[in-house]
Amino acid sequence: MDFNLTSEQRQIYEYGGKLAQKYDNAYWLEHARRHAFPKELFQQVADDGFLGMMVPEEYGGAGLGMTEMALLMEGMGNHGIPLLMLVVGPCMSLSHLAAHGTEFHKKKLLPAACRGEIQFCFAITEPNAGSNSMKIETVAKPNGNRFSMTGQKTFITGADLADYCLVVARTKPFDKVAKKTDGFTLFAVDLKAKGIQKQRVRVSIPVPEEQWTLFFDEVDLGPEDIVGEIDEGFSILFDSLNPERITVAALCCGVGRFALGKGVAYASERSVFDQPIGAHQGVQHPMAKAHVAVETASLMMRRAAWEFDNGLPAGASSNMAKYAGAEAAIEAVDSALQAHGGSGFTEDTGLYELYPLVRLLRTAPVNRELCLSYIGERVLGMPRSY
Ligand SMILES: Cc1cc2nc3c(=O)[nH]c(=O)nc-3n(C[C@H](O)[C@H](O)[C@H](O)COP(=O)(O)OP(=O)(O)OC[C@H]3O[C@@H](n4cnc5c(N)ncnc54)[C@H](O)[C@@H]3O)c2cc1C
Repeated sequence: MDFNLTSEQRQIYEYGGKLAQKYDNAYWLEHARRHAFPKELFQQVADDGFLGMMVPEEYGGAGLGMTEMALLMEGMGNHGIPLLMLVVGPCMSLSHLAAHGTEFHKKKLLPAACRGEIQFCFAITEPNAGSNSMKIETVAKPNGNRFSMTGQKTFITGADLADYCLVVARTKPFDKVAKKTDGFTLFAVDLKAKGIQKQRVRVSIPVPEEQWTLFFDEVDLGPEDIVGEIDEGFSILFDSLNPERITVAALCCGVGRFALGKGVAYASERSVFDQPIGAHQGVQHPMAKAHVAVETASLMMRRAAWEFDNGLPAGASSNMAKYAGAEAAIEAVDSALQAHGGSGFTEDTGLYELYPLVRLLRTAPVNRELCLSYIGERVLGMPRSY
C-alpha cells in the first residue's frame, strides 16, 4: 500500500523488492535456519545508504525520518527479508546517537555505522526486570567523571555482531530517586571493553540474529561514552519506545503481506474438490480478514510514524500499531499456513518458519498486555494497575 507517499518514500518502500531480486526470502531463510547473519544483504543496505536513514547527512546518514525507516522495514518485510538488526541498530541506537551522542559518537561512530563497518545493539532487558524497566539493576557507579558498570542484560539481539551496545543503566539506585524515572543514563559501550562477557541464549526462532546475555563486571566508562544527560536517560528512552514499536509494526505488516501472498497464490492454484481451494470461503475469508487486519495496522503504523516525524505525541498510535501489527501478522501467517494444508509445514514452502517470528513480536519488544494497558490507561483514562 503506497498512497500518499512522496516519490522518494515510494522508492524506499519499493526498495525491499529490488533487494529481494538478489537477496530473496530463500536466502534470508537459509541464514535464519542457521542463525547466520546475512552480511552481504546488510552491507547492500549500507551501500545503498539506508542504515543511516535517521542519521543527519553531516554524520553520514540519509537525514530522513521515522516514516522512511518504517517504509524500509515494511518493504523488506513485504518480500520476506525482515531484519531485527535494523530495529536495534539503525532505529533504536543510531538515531539516539545522532540526537544525543558526544562528538566521538557523531563524528567517529555514526559515519562508520552508516557505512556498515560497525554495528550497534540495544540493551535494556534484565533477568529481574523484564517488562518493568524501572527496576533494572545494572549500575554505572560514578567515580569522578568516570563510571564503573556492573550488571547483566539478557536477550540482547545481535550482541555477537555488534561492536557497540547502547546500554541503559542506573546511575542512581531505584531507592535513592524522587521519581522512578530519574537516575537512568544511556551509555554507548564498546563491547570489546575489559569486564564484558557474553553467553548465548538459545532462542528457538528461525531468525538470522542470535540473542545473548551480557555480563558487565566493573566496566570502565568515560564521559565520551555517555549518550545524553547523566541521570536523565529516561527521556531518551521514552523517545526510543515509539520508534521501536513503529518499526516492529512495519516489519509485522510486511511479513504478514508476504505470508498472505504465498497463501493466496497457493489457494488459487491448488484444487482438491474440483475447484481451487481458494474458492471455498472457509479458506478465502480467513485470508481476507487477515488482509484487512494487516492493511489497517499499516495505516495506524504510518500515522504513528507521521506523528513522530512531526513532533506530535505518538504514544497512542505507536502502541496501537504495535499491537495491531503483531496480531495481524500472526493472523496472516496462520491463515496462509492453514490454506497450505500439510505443505505449509514443509521446508520447501518455508511458511511455518515465519510463525515463530511473528509470534515473538506479540511478546517482544513490548508485550501485547503492556500495549493494551497503555491504551486502557493513558488513552481511555481507566485506572492504572502498576
Ligand atoms: C528473540 C528476542 C529478542 C529480544 N531482543 C532484545 C534486545 O535486543 N534488547 C533488549 O533489551 N531486550 C530484548 N528482548 C527482551 C524482550 O524485550 C523481553 O523479553 C520482553 O520485553 C518481555 O520481558 P520478559 O521476557 O522479562 O517478560 P516479563 O516482564 O516477565 O513478562 C512475562 C509476561 O507477563 C505478562 N505481563 C508482564 N507484565 C504485565 C503487566 N503489567 N500487565 C499484564 N501482563 C503483564 C506479559 O504477557 C508478558 O509476556 C528480546 C527477547 C526475545 C525473546
